[in-house]
Amino acid sequence: MTNVQQQLDRLTTQGSLVEVLAEGALRCTACAHRCVIKPGRRGICQVRFNQDGELRVPWGYVAALQVDPVEKKPFSHFLPGSDALSFGMLGCDFHCGYCQNWITSQTLRDPRADQGANYLREITPDQMVRIARENQASILVSTYNEPLITTEWAVDIFKRAKMAGMQCAFVSNGNATLEALEMLRPYLSAYKIDLKSMQDKNYRKLGGVLKNVLDSIQKAHQLGLWVEVVTLVVPGFNDDPEELWDAARFLASVSRDIPWHVTAYHPDYHMTENPNTPASALQTAADIGQEAGLSYVYAGNLPGRVGSLENTYCPQCSGLLVQRHGYVIQDYQITPQGTCPSCGHAIAGIWPDQPNAVRLGGWGLPRRI
Ligand code: SF4
Repeated sequence: MTNVQQQLDRLTTQGSLVEVLAEGALRCTACAHRCVIKPGRRGICQVRFNQDGELRVPWGYVAALQVDPVEKKPFSHFLPGSDALSFGMLGCDFHCGYCQNWITSQTLRDPRADQGANYLREITPDQMVRIARENQASILVSTYNEPLITTEWAVDIFKRAKMAGMQCAFVSNGNATLEALEMLRPYLSAYKIDLKSMQDKNYRKLGGVLKNVLDSIQKAHQLGLWVEVVTLVVPGFNDDPEELWDAARFLASVSRDIPWHVTAYHPDYHMTENPNTPASALQTAADIGQEAGLSYVYAGNLPGRVGSLENTYCPQCSGLLVQRHGYVIQDYQITPQGTCPSCGHAIAGIWPDQPNAVRLGGWGLPRRI
C-alpha cells in the first residue's frame, strides 16, 4: 500500500450507498459502475474500498477549497451573481484524457497524480459551513473531482448548509445511480452534468457508458433538481454537427428549459494533440442547440468572443434578461417572481428573490480559502 493510499484510507467513514452480497462482498451504489468489491479490494475509483465486509468511503478532508462565482461552475440559471464555496476531494470514476483537474481527480489511478494528496486538508462539515458564512457564500458546491464517489461526505455538509439557509449543488459527470440521486435530493438544489459525447465508443474511452449519463439527466430532471448541462466541444472528438444535433435533440426531449453550455476545450493531461476549440465551433454548436428548440444555449470559456451567447434572453419576447461577460453579471432584469419584466414569461431556473441585491460587476474570479 502506498503512503497516499494509507493517508486517504485513514480519512474515511462507513458508506451508506452499498448493498451487502455473499461472502463479505459489497456492491457500491454511489455511481453507475456499481462495483462489486470483495474484502480487501477497491472500487474503480480506488477511494472506496471493502475493509472486512464494510464499505469505507472518503470523509473529513478537502483537496481543493475556494469561493467561485456560481457562473464558473457553470450555472447560469441558479442564483446568478452569488458566491459558491466550492470543495473537492480526491479521485474519480472516469479517466478523461483532457481532464483539467487530473492532479486531484486521478489520485490513486495515475502515480503522477498522487501529488494531489499534497493539497489535502482535514476539515469538518461544521467548519465548511462556517467558512461559507464567513465568506458570504450562499451556495455550497461539491466539484473539481467527481462528487458522486463522495456522496456521503457531501450529504453531511449539505445537511448543515441547508439548516444554515444555504443552497447546495453538484458539478458531476452524471454517472449517477437512482440511489445516489435520491440520497442527495433532500439537500441538493442544482445539478450540473457533463454530456461529453453522444457516441458510446467515446464514453468508453473516458471510462463511462453513454446510456448511464443520459439516464442521469432524465432522472435528475424528473426528481426536480435544477439541471444544467455542459458539453466541452473538443475538435476531432465530439464536434461533428450530427453528434451535436443528437445531444441537442436529446436535451430538448427531456426539457427545452435545460440550459446547454457549449464550452471551449484546451489541450491538457493526455489529450494534447487536438487543437483549441475556436469560437466559430461554439457558434455552430449553439446554432444547433437553438434550432433543436432549446430555450437557453450558452457558449463558455471564451469571454467576449462569442457575441450574445453569454447572455440570457427571454424565449418568448427575446428581451435581454441577464447580461454577462465571463463570470461577471453586467445587468440583471429578471423579476423576483422569476419572470421576464417585458412579457411576463416564466424563466426556468432558481432566481434571487431580491433582484436589486444581485451583484453586478466585480472581478469574477475565484478566491482561494
Ligand atoms: S463510486 Fe463508483 S467507481 Fe467508486 S466504488 Fe462506487 S461504484 Fe465503484
